[in-house]
Amino acid sequence: MQHYDIIIIGTGAGGGTILHKLKNSGKKILVLERGTFMPQEKENWDTDEVFRKERYHTKEVWKTEDDKELHPGTGYWVGGNTKVYGAALFRLREKDFEKIQHADGISIEWPISYRDIEPYYNEAEKLYQVHGKMGLDPTEPYRSEEYAFPEVSHEPRIQELHNNLTEKGLHPFYIPLGVKLNEADAIRSKCIRCNTCDGFPCLLHAKSDADINCVRPAIDNDTVTLLTNAKVIKLNTNNSGNEIVSVDVEVVTELHQFSADIFILSAGAINSAVLLLKSANSSHPNGLANKSSQVGRNFMKHNSTAMIGVSTKPNPTVFQKTLAVNDFYWGDDEFKFPMGHIQLLGKSNKGQISGDAPFFTPGFVLGEMVTHSIDWWMTGEDLADPENRVQVINDEIHLDYKENNTEGFERMIKKLKDILYSIDSGHSFIPHSFYLTKNIPLAAVGHQCGTARFGIDEITSVLDINCRTHEINNLYVVDGSFFPSSGAVNPSLTIIANALRIGEHILERIK
Ligand SMILES: Cc1cc2nc3c(=O)[nH]c(=O)nc-3n(C[C@H](O)[C@H](O)[C@H](O)COP(=O)(O)OP(=O)(O)OC[C@H]3O[C@@H](n4cnc5c(N)ncnc54)[C@H](O)[C@@H]3O)c2cc1C
Ligand code: SF4
Repeated sequence: MQHYDIIIIGTGAGGGTILHKLKNSGKKILVLERGTFMPQEKENWDTDEVFRKERYHTKEVWKTEDDKELHPGTGYWVGGNTKVYGAALFRLREKDFEKIQHADGISIEWPISYRDIEPYYNEAEKLYQVHGKMGLDPTEPYRSEEYAFPEVSHEPRIQELHNNLTEKGLHPFYIPLGVKLNEADAIRSKCIRCNTCDGFPCLLHAKSDADINCVRPAIDNDTVTLLTNAKVIKLNTNNSGNEIVSVDVEVVTELHQFSADIFILSAGAINSAVLLLKSANSSHPNGLANKSSQVGRNFMKHNSTAMIGVSTKPNPTVFQKTLAVNDFYWGDDEFKFPMGHIQLLGKSNKGQISGDAPFFTPGFVLGEMVTHSIDWWMTGEDLADPENRVQVINDEIHLDYKENNTEGFERMIKKLKDILYSIDSGHSFIPHSFYLTKNIPLAAVGHQCGTARFGIDEITSVLDINCRTHEINNLYVVDGSFFPSSGAVNPSLTIIANALRIGEHILERIK
């Protein structure tokens, strides 16, 4: 059996980033990734392939609580889900780390404060080349530094929207974005500001993702070995159960075993929980590190809604994902509890919205709709509920989830609609502006988190403050699993910043 100093399982926001942090440690690192490098092919930017045919999603079938089939909107690639993400890279707010009263219950306190992670947010933003501008978001947390890269500008229709929203008393701001765009010097810009970014892989490798920014630069290092097509199926402990000694891995079709001193599990919140549960043994009969019975529980994914606002005004915007609104994040005069976060989506095209339009909508109307629409994405915090959980039953992945905390979120959507109606009352081809909303189904597990939360108390958490399992001395979980609460902004920058934080801890440990 080959032995390594460190084994990392998974190469997404968590695994790819911690690899970056550890790559120069001089230690022998083995990276096990069940996927391959995503092909750089024309289909990367083909709506039909990406959305309707789900070319980059796994074909795995999971089950819901009522035993229905669930086709997860997730992919297994070097870079994990950052290959297709929208690269909106937000910090959580200071209060997101504290105990907060929501309409539906309590969002629990984190074992670290915002100040503890702030330096790592700076490091994360530099590593993923986040473009933004500080001082505009009314809920922005303390920043010790301005963004290293300038904000991505609004195109004229979005600038007009920005001005209209400002006149209505809101404080729209630039979405912090991980794209390698150089607006001052277009010739040196890798990113061409195209209309197939949010939800698509980048054909030009100009999106900052864990593959391009972290994994590829790391594998040039002699001490780093990456095995793709390498699906970890079990972690094995020693007899007393306090250390992992090896992993069982299917490499293409062959079974291999590798051993290491330290193991970092970064398979994503759902698959990391699955691996812990599947690795049950006589020392850990309910799954590894699961004395608390919290592994797989408290699964969160955000309350999310996409909305197409079809306005009377044409919208020729190409790259639309530049504007966000946080005025309702903590509530408003009428509703004193957190409501959520609003941001623009990438500009939808006919192929993307045809499934959501009323069935009688003819193609030419769809065409007019997309040329007149502005597309929104809204997220609200869902609260950790132990009954919302990942389980492995008869070797199948089961996902139980009941929505919660939706009242404030729905109020926020209504507020936004009212404001947009009041802005846009003109006339053109479409007689009235209207809004198609779509609640994002459970299968879209893009914002999965919480399944192995970190905490001080071994009875209520799986990981300690350094994301090491309470029970197994050399096992860390470094991905979206550690979130005790989900906040309402996109999760990746927090996963990345935390991976850098844990990487620093591991560097200290192996000194
Ligand atoms: C369409 C879409 C848009 C999104 N947009 C945004 C956005 O704009 N901003 C944002 O912050 N977030 C966004 N997200 C969410 C973001 O992609 C995730 O939060 C992030 O990728 C999670 O990081 P992770 O490390 O937890 O897991 P992942 O990135 O999913 O990485 C898990 C890795 O583990 C590998 N793996 C799994 N099981 C095994 C196994 N058994 N053996 C070996 N390897 C394994 C996987 O192949 C993968 O490489 C989006 C997600 C989607 C799907
Ligand atoms: S907008 Fe830029 S980063 Fe996004 S897909 Fe297009 S070229 Fe790539």
